[in-house]
Amino acid sequence: MHDPAVRSLLDMFARIAATMEAERDHLSDLDGAIGDADHGMTMALGFRAVVVALGRLDAASAKPADVFRTAAGAFLDAVGASTGPLYANGFLRAAQRLDGCDGLDCASAATLLDAMAAGIAQRGKGSRGEKTMLDVWLPAAEAAQHALADRPDRFWTIVLDAAERGAAATRSMVAVRGRAARVGERSIGHIDPGAVSALMIIRAMAESFKP
Ligand SMILES: [Mg+2]
Repeated sequence: MHDPAVRSLLDMFARIAATMEAERDHLSDLDGAIGDADHGMTMALGFRAVVVALGRLDAASAKPADVFRTAAGAFLDAVGASTGPLYANGFLRAAQRLDGCDGLDCASAATLLDAMAAGIAQRGKGSRGEKTMLDVWLPAAEAAQHALADRPDRFWTIVLDAAERGAAATRSMVAVRGRAARVGERSIGHIDPGAVSALMIIRAMAESFKP
């Protein structure tokens, strides 16, 4: 029997991959302003590999944790450097959190956002204010916990609002990590491409999870 959580997670990764493909040039242009202009290519490549690997998964017997473990391995294989280990660790953390879970309730969006943010932060040893994807993941995960407690009816509105504000805030930050750190102060005025793709991922999650 198909696990409904597995079905929505497969849908989520398919949406993310389609978005990265559609936004590939846009993301690479953003990266070109402060980096090496490969971010769109990298993300499209990584999520295409994830979808191919998930296509080989036996969806009838797979558990939610299997989806994330498969995604982690495929993303890391396809994207060796920079973003690769970060998202791979986010997916791995999500898989660990979902071990033993086979229902929609345990694979909740708040759990996934929290695991992703924690896994990326741990691998990158990063924090907020450094002009990276964490300026989106961390506030989105935090907003998810608050929304869950106070306004579950407005969950995605609150999460997406936090993610959008986080991405926009990177524009006025100085890059201190990765290749963008080399341009230093000149990175001010440019939005971080990794923050923009993180926002796109969370938007895709919202579309898959919204009732
Ligand atoms: Mg780059």
